[in-house]
Amino acid sequence: MKTEHGFWARQPIHSTAHKEKAEMYKPDDIENARQNLSRYGWAQEIVNGWAQSVAFALQQDRAFFDTMIPELTPGTHYGQNCPHCVGKQSLMGGGLFDWHIDSPDEITCRACGAVYPNAQYPETGVLICPRMGQQFTYYETPEEVADPENRAKHALKWLGDRPTMTSFSGHIRDCKVSWARSQALTLAKLYAVTGEIGYAERAVWILDRIARVFPNYLYHSYDGSVADCPPAEVAANMGKEEAEGGPRGGRFPKDAICHAYDLHQFEDYSTLNNGFWGAGRMNVHGKGSDAGALYVLTVAYDLIRDTEYTSGRRLIDRDTARRIKEDLILAGCVDMMHWNSLSNKGTAVFVLSAAVGMLLDHPQKVRHALDGFNRMLAERYHHDGFYSESPSYSAHNLFNVHELADLLHGYSDPPGYQPEKGERIEQLDMFSSGRYPLSLLSLTKMLAPGNRMPIIGDTQYDTEANLLSAEILTARLGGMHAGLLELIQGAPLSEKGGEYALWYRPYDLQSESTTLPLHTEWFPGWHVGVLRGGRDDTALYLNGNEHQWTLQTSHRQQDILSLSYYAYGEELASDRGYFSGSSQQLPDGRSGQIWVKSSLSHNLVVVDEEEQNNTACGSNLELFGTAPGIEVVQASGVNVYPQCQEYRRTCAMVTTTQGQTYSVDFFRTKGGRIHQYNFHCNGSPMGINPTTPSPQAVVLGDAWDMWLENPQAIAPQEPTTFTWQFRNVNLDLMLLNVPHRIILADAPGWRVGTPEELEKPAIRQIFAENCAENGNETLTSQYATVIAPYKAGNSPLLGARLLADDPGDGVLAIEVKLSDRTDYIISTKDQKERQFGPVTTAGQFAFVSVNDQGVQGYLLNGTELICDNLEISLTEAITTLKVQSVEKSVFHLAEALQNPQAVVGSYLLAGESPQTGFEIASATENAITVRDYPAITCDKVRILNSAWAHVAS
Ligand SMILES: [Zn+2]
Repeated sequence: MKTEHGFWARQPIHSTAHKEKAEMYKPDDIENARQNLSRYGWAQEIVNGWAQSVAFALQQDRAFFDTMIPELTPGTHYGQNCPHCVGKQSLMGGGLFDWHIDSPDEITCRACGAVYPNAQYPETGVLICPRMGQQFTYYETPEEVADPENRAKHALKWLGDRPTMTSFSGHIRDCKVSWARSQALTLAKLYAVTGEIGYAERAVWILDRIARVFPNYLYHSYDGSVADCPPAEVAANMGKEEAEGGPRGGRFPKDAICHAYDLHQFEDYSTLNNGFWGAGRMNVHGKGSDAGALYVLTVAYDLIRDTEYTSGRRLIDRDTARRIKEDLILAGCVDMMHWNSLSNKGTAVFVLSAAVGMLLDHPQKVRHALDGFNRMLAERYHHDGFYSESPSYSAHNLFNVHELADLLHGYSDPPGYQPEKGERIEQLDMFSSGRYPLSLLSLTKMLAPGNRMPIIGDTQYDTEANLLSAEILTARLGGMHAGLLELIQGAPLSEKGGEYALWYRPYDLQSESTTLPLHTEWFPGWHVGVLRGGRDDTALYLNGNEHQWTLQTSHRQQDILSLSYYAYGEELASDRGYFSGSSQQLPDGRSGQIWVKSSLSHNLVVVDEEEQNNTACGSNLELFGTAPGIEVVQASGVNVYPQCQEYRRTCAMVTTTQGQTYSVDFFRTKGGRIHQYNFHCNGSPMGINPTTPSPQAVVLGDAWDMWLENPQAIAPQEPTTFTWQFRNVNLDLMLLNVPHRIILADAPGWRVGTPEELEKPAIRQIFAENCAENGNETLTSQYATVIAPYKAGNSPLLGARLLADDPGDGVLAIEVKLSDRTDYIISTKDQKERQFGPVTTAGQFAFVSVNDQGVQGYLLNGTELICDNLEISLTEAITTLKVQSVEKSVFHLAEALQNPQAVVGSYLLAGESPQTGFEIASATENAITVRDYPAITCDKVRILNSAWAHVAS
C-alpha cells in the first residue's frame, strides 16, 4: 500500500498478506485504518510519524536489539536530579533528561544540557541485591562522600525531602527498555496497516529479547527501592497486603527491600514503598505501572502472531511464541492481576487482563477485567458520569482504561464456555448505554471558555479539552457526537484525527451539525454548578462538592463552595489548580501543593483561619433556576466547618441589555470566631475605591503568613471596590458590606513547580474579615458582593448598594445601577412578604430590572413579586411530590402533578445526603423526566417553582 505522502511506502522486504486473526484491533478496525489512510492527510501523518520513528530500528539487525535491551533490571526516570544544575535551572526532584536512540548510552539534562554519564559526576554508590544477584550504581554528592555517617542528609531528594538514588545508568536502561517496547508496538501497527513483513520481523526480535530478559527484571519502585526477591512472590505479597489493608508495598523479610538510603525497614519487615502504584519490573508508574507496558507488548504480539512469509513459513516459531506468551505476557499479567485497584492508575490492569484473556482464551481474565471496569464506574464515578477526583484526573483515568471497552466491543465468551456464576457474555457493547457514555460526555459538558477544562480539584491550569472522550463517542455513536468532536477540535472530521480515529472512526462517517452541550446547570452527582449567562466566553463555577460523602480521593481539595469566574474567554477569579502530585518542593522547602489545595487559596469564606474538613462533608443544592437575563444557584455546606451552623452561598449571573454579564455573590456564615471572605483574580491589581483610608502594613496569623506577602489592612468606612486587570479584561469586585477590616496581600503567582513558573508575579488577594467581639457572641456574617468583568473603559455598572442586610432573618437585597436600568437582587431564607425599594416580594430569590420600557421580574421558590405594574404570584413556592419509583431519567410519581407544563425547565430537588437537583425536561401528571442524567432513588422530589415576566410601562 502506498501513498504519495508515504515516507513509509518503501519496497516491501517481503510481501505478505495479513492473516487478520488479531483480537485487539479487529480485522474491521484494521481495514478501517487502511481506508482512512488512503483518504485523509491526518491519517497519513500518523502513519508517516510511525514510519519515521522506526526508521532507525529498521536499519538494525537482530544483534543490535539483543545488545540494546539490557539484562539488568532497568531504573527509573522518576525523581532523578541533575547534579550540575539542581537548585539553579532545575528544582530538587524535578530533573528531566532527554534520551535518543542515536546515542543510546547517554542522557542529557533538559535544563542545562549536561550529559551523563559524566566524569564530573561519577556513580560511586552501589546498591547490592545479594539474593537475586543484581547490583545498581548511583551518583553520590561530594558532601555525601565526605560525610558517610550522614549520607541521607546530603543526598539528592525527591517526594518532598526523601533521599532518592539518582542513577544515570538505571535511567538509561529504563529509556532503552521503554523505547524498545514502544518500537515493538509501532512496528506491529505498521505491519498491520502496510503488510510489510520487515516491520513484523523487528517487532518479533524485540518481543523475543524482552521475553528473555523479563524473568530477571526485579520489582523496583520509583523511589529507588528494589525488591531482592523473586518477582512473582513480590507481586502476590503486595496484592495480598493491599487487599487486606496492610502495607501497599507488601510485607517482606528485613532487608529484602534494598534502598540506597535504607528506607522502608520496619521492626520486623520491610516494604516496597507504596507498592504497585510506584513499582514495576519494567515500568514503575503511570499507566498501570507494568500493566500499561505489558498491554503494549500484548497488542504488538497480537498484531503479528500469525504472520507468514510468502513461502508459508511462520514468522514466529513455536519456542519463540511460547516464550513471548508465557514468560512475558502471561507471567506479567498474572503478577499485575494481584493489583486489584480502582485507582486512576490501577484501572489499566483491567485493560491488560481483558487483552490477555482474549489472546489466550482465558474468559476468567476477561471477567476479571469487566468486573473491575464496572466497579470502577459504580464507585469512582458519580451518578451523572463525572469522575470523583477532578477534571484532569477524569481524563487521566480514561486514558488509562479506555482500551477496555474497545477490546471487548462485540466480545462473546468462547464457544462452549459456561461460567460458574452468572450468564455467558454475548456481543458486549459498553458504549450505547449506562454510565460509561455519560462519563465520556461529562468531559465536554464541564468545559470552561476556550474549551479548556475547568480548574477544579487537582487540575493543572490551562489544561485543554479532552479529545479522546469525544473521539470515542464519535467513533462509537457517530452523528451528533461527531459534530461535537469537530467543535472541540476546531476542524472537520476530514482534516483532523488522532490514532483512535485512525482505527475506529468509520472512514465514511458524516457529522451532524450541533452545538457544544454547555448549559447553565447543576451537575447532580459532581455537585458543581455552572452559570454561563448565555455566552460561550463566560462561566461562573460554584464548586459545591459532593466531596467524600460517598467517595474517597486525595485529588479533591478543601474548596467547598469555592467560586471561579471566567469572562471574555479569560480565567479571572481562579482556583489555583494542581501544583504537584509528588510533593514537589519550592526552593525554600515549602510544598507548593499545600497552598493550591488549601481553603485559604480558594475564593470562599475561611473560618477561624482554618482548613475546611476533608471527609464526611459536602454541600446540599438549595436553589437553581434560569430565566431570560438571570441565572441563580444556591448551595449550603454540610459539616464544612464543624463550628458553623450556616455556610451558604448564593450566586446569580445577570445579563445586561447589551449582553454583558455581572454576578452577585451572597455568602452567609454563622459560627466560629473569624470570617474571611476571600477573593483573588489573575493579573494585576488596578486600584481600590475609595482610596482612603489608605492601607497600613499589618502582621497576619501564621496560617496566612506562611503564604501571603506584603499584607496591608484597611479599616473601611463604606463599601469598597477592588479592580484587577488580566490581559485586556478588567474585573471589579464591589464589596457592599463594611467588614471589620479588609486585608490586601500578594499571593503566590505560581501554579505549578517549574523554575519559569516560580518567576511569575504575585497575584493580589484580598479578604474581608469579621471577628467575634466577645466570648459569647455567635459570629454571623453576610457578605454581598458584585463581580463585574468588562473589556475596555469603565464597568457597565454605575454603582451598587445594599438595600437590606439583616443577619437575624438572613435577608440580603441589593440595588445595581446601570446606565439604562436599575436591577434588584433579593435573597431570603423564608417566605415572608417584605419590601425593598420599589419591590415587594415573598420568596427566597427574586430579581427585578426596571428601565424606561418596563419591568422584568423573576421569582424562584416564592409566591409573590410586585414592582410597579409587574405582578407575579404562585400558588406555592415549592411543590413536594412522593415518588413511586425511578427508571432511567424518569421519576414516577405516587401523587398527581398539577399543571405539568408549568414545571418544564424548572429544577427539582432530590436526595437527602446530599441533596441535589435536576432540570425537568418534560412532565406529565404522573411522571417527571429530567434532562441528560439518570434519576436517583428517593422517596420524594421537591419542585422549585418559578416564574418570569416582563411588562411594558
Ligand atoms: Zn542540568
